Amino acid sequence: MLRNLPSIDRLLTLSEPLLLEFGRPLTTDALRATLDETRTRLQTSGGEAPDPDALIARATHLLHTWTTPTLQPVINATGVIIHTNLGRAPLSRAAIQAMQTAALGYTNLEYDLPKGQRGSRYDHAEDLLKRLTGAEAALVVNNNAAAVMLVLSALAKRRRVLISRTQLVEIGGGFRIPDVMAQSGAKLVEIGATNRVHLRDYETALAEQPIALLLSAHQSNFRILGFHTEPTRAELATLAHAHHLPYVEDLGSGTFLDTALVSGATLTHEPTVQESLAAGVDLVTFSGDKLLGGPQAGIIAGRADLVAKLKKHPLARALRADKLTYAALSATLLHYLKGEAAREIPIWRMISLTPDAIRTRAQTWRDALGTGELISGESTIGGGSLPGETLLTTLLALKVPSPQRFLSTLRKATPPLIARVENDQVVFDPRTVLDEQDENLLHAVKSCLNATPSYHS
Ligand SMILES: *Cc1c(COP(=O)(O)O)cnc(C)c1O
Repeated sequence: MLRNLPSIDRLLTLSEPLLLEFGRPLTTDALRATLDETRTRLQTSGGEAPDPDALIARATHLLHTWTTPTLQPVINATGVIIHTNLGRAPLSRAAIQAMQTAALGYTNLEYDLPKGQRGSRYDHAEDLLKRLTGAEAALVVNNNAAAVMLVLSALAKRRRVLISRTQLVEIGGGFRIPDVMAQSGAKLVEIGATNRVHLRDYETALAEQPIALLLSAHQSNFRILGFHTEPTRAELATLAHAHHLPYVEDLGSGTFLDTALVSGATLTHEPTVQESLAAGVDLVTFSGDKLLGGPQAGIIAGRADLVAKLKKHPLARALRADKLTYAALSATLLHYLKGEAAREIPIWRMISLTPDAIRTRAQTWRDALGTGELISGESTIGGGSLPGETLLTTLLALKVPSPQRFLSTLRKATPPLIARVENDQVVFDPRTVLDEQDENLLHAVKSCLNATPSYHS
């Protein structure tokens, strides 16, 4: 049987379309892998040798598997707006356009056009950030974890940093404030108790030992309720400045818009970048792809002398952002400057959707599917912002025999559709589904329903 298998050369002569589509080396690899697995199968289980067409079909399947990008678009019907597992913030049209323009050709990334000589990439987006936040200077790095790392390495290496015990937070995905501090070489000095921290706790610590800086970290993904106090930002800033020390705040999500004021939303107030700086914080750090709604980036804004130090630190080179990030970030920041953020930035559009608009969309889905039930539900912000807070939404709910199997089939659709199960029903939240994805969503759900007619019951 093994002798009946065609040679690799013969298969190659029969694989002209594959050679055109995938090139010779990859096609040869796929044909060889197919012959190897067939030989092994015949040796262990016997049987007929497959004909060349069957072998080429198998190689074609392998080639498609090997060349499908591992990163693919998905439809987010979970209602979690800043879904970290699904790539956080979708970008605005303008941000995508800006990335495309920057990607297509050369840019003045590190070129000073008026002078015709080398410039600094750190200048890009800086003026926009200064204007938006009121900061004297700003610096963009790869993400907020990198921003915190750079600040501590440049300003507190081998020196002590005061931080409240209420703020030794873990963000998820391996970011823990105490670990980042250790990695940066800064020495952690914990202040107060887990529920209550007083200004005098800071004063005592400052009197006892030499300190490099005061750090606050936003409790992004949890809340302390009950018997709890902490000094205000302004109090800590005044104290730090009385000791000639910088006061740094890791804001986490960092927002420019007041979450409590966004139309249609019913959220509490998340501290804005502007109010943190206005309260006297010397440097704030925050993410580009959480409530900012832009590309992955870490932004550091604040005092010019401190930012200048960061720019010169060797780690800045290792943590720097690329041209596509600057392009998308600048376009996103411009939406805020022009006062059009709630309209143009997808995550803000999702946050400010009215209950009526969502209900109408869910109704349209129901009508198109001819099955399902509209129920009230809750969307969440996600991305470690506004923990425990939800936005009222309307869900389309489907009763199916095996919800988990239904979800798993939806994940195999093109593009994969990610939904969730609530009270034994599969539910879809229109809030996080982009308008142009409706057709794909309905197609995926319909195919899934048709695959097992009893689903209609
Ligand atoms: C999310 C978050 C980070 C990490 O930000 P990335 O941009 O994901 O690196 C750090 N600190 C806080 C308080 C956060 O909420």
